[in-house]
Amino acid sequence: MNLKRKIAILGSTGSIGRQTLDIIKEYPDLFEAHLLVANNSADLLIEQAIEFKPKRVIIANEMLYDKVRDALAVKDIIVETGAQAIAEAVTDVDVDTVVTAMVGYSGLIPTVRAIETGKKIALANKETLVVAGELITKLLKNSSSEIYPVDSEHGAFYQCLMGEDRKNVSKLILTASGGPFRLTPREQLENMRAADALKHPNWSMGAKITIDSATMMNKGFEMIEAKWLFDVSHEDIEIVVHPQSIVHSMVEFVDGSVKAQFGLPDMHLPIRFALGLPDRLPSDAKRMTVADYASLTFEKPDYEKFPLLNVAKDAAAQGGIAPCLMNAANEIAVAAFLKDRIKFTDINEIVQHTMRHFPNVSSPTLDDYVAANDEARAFAETLVK
Ligand code: MG
Repeated sequence: MNLKRKIAILGSTGSIGRQTLDIIKEYPDLFEAHLLVANNSADLLIEQAIEFKPKRVIIANEMLYDKVRDALAVKDIIVETGAQAIAEAVTDVDVDTVVTAMVGYSGLIPTVRAIETGKKIALANKETLVVAGELITKLLKNSSSEIYPVDSEHGAFYQCLMGEDRKNVSKLILTASGGPFRLTPREQLENMRAADALKHPNWSMGAKITIDSATMMNKGFEMIEAKWLFDVSHEDIEIVVHPQSIVHSMVEFVDGSVKAQFGLPDMHLPIRFALGLPDRLPSDAKRMTVADYASLTFEKPDYEKFPLLNVAKDAAAQGGIAPCLMNAANEIAVAAFLKDRIKFTDINEIVQHTMRHFPNVSSPTLDDYVAANDEARAFAETLVK
């Protein structure tokens, strides 16, 4: 009997997806890749399929379907294409855990389907909770599904909270590297180009999240992600800049004690932790030498330089579709910035302008989120032009 846990990876060719496959390879007796999904990276998807022999692969971009199908024709692997195929494939009875590592809003519908069918979710797609945390939380209450965070900060919160009574928690302290522009004077920000923003000091990540890190939108997203994952008010989440990215986050308790989780800035750690739960998986991975870190520093974030931090707080306070509007406008603005179509500081303008343009909707349904996302993207696109 095959007791290996069958893993579906949505976004297998991205940074988190590739590192998840590293973990599957590290524990061949525990895990096997069952479904690999990629957006556009057909060549890498084919390579991964040949190496990991999943039951099914999906290339989201329909233009690339023939190429992937032909390359895998003799491999006894089902090849499909399109968003509908992804939403169906995650519900496959054999799938145990869905690693949601696609970029942005595209993670929402497959995550909803995976929750409805009781899958474990290893959540790397934080936008799902940013956009629709309220709905996702409701769905989780009526499902045997569980969400395990793959984000390093949320993995840290999870570990700090293990064995603790939740009523004793007074505050979550979310650490931020500060991103590539931490030391850049505010008045120079508007001259920064995509190439400058893509030089992240500590983490090697995809382009979208690296820009989100440069604007600190990523930290605003993570604040909302933590609010939903750990059921705390956004007012009880403090953001602190910690440039070394060694303390992945902290929890303060009612007696004044603070617990922190340390580790090297390597996403394999939170992925190994999330896939291993409830166990810890022994690993020969590189160890952190504590004595190498003579100083760990912490400072308050600069809210004037990084206004999207306040925008995220505001979206969290408003609830409803406000975070969905924020996310949609940010996706359009970041894509435009990456193509040098707008200035760095325009990202904030586009997000704020879009959020102000639409009335809020309370207790949104999935259809409300889908409509808000579509409309906000179209509006933000007109602002880019
Ligand atoms: Mg993170």
